[in-house]
Amino acid sequence: MALAEGMTHSGGMSLAEAQRRVDAWVSRYEEGYFHPLTNLARLTEEVGELAREVNHRFGEKTKKHDEPEGDLAMEMADILFVLVCMANREGIDLQAAFERMLAKVETRDGDRWTRRGER
Ligand SMILES: [Mg+2]
Repeated sequence: MALAEGMTHSGGMSLAEAQRRVDAWVSRYEEGYFHPLTNLARLTEEVGELAREVNHRFGEKTKKHDEPEGDLAMEMADILFVLVCMANREGIDLQAAFERMLAKVETRDGDRWTRRGER
């Protein structure tokens, strides 16, 4: 899978930096992070919002004519925000976890798919 044609990254922010920025924001408030079950519900809500946008664009369930077009990128960012909150609350280093996950995918699944130019 390749990046969409013409796509560029705004660049700059690692997952570690995202975790720090979210923590700096949440730490300003007495309430702090939500309970894990609350965050799980929020994550589910946000995944539902992404599903709605995907369904609208690619599926059969179109929106009502007066509903505004949503923003796929922002829905994905909402999901990432909740995941970052969950990781921060539990002291999980998402950067390290994502690197471990990618290493697994790159080795275990390295020969799973048809490589470009091999057909
Ligand atoms: Mg959302």
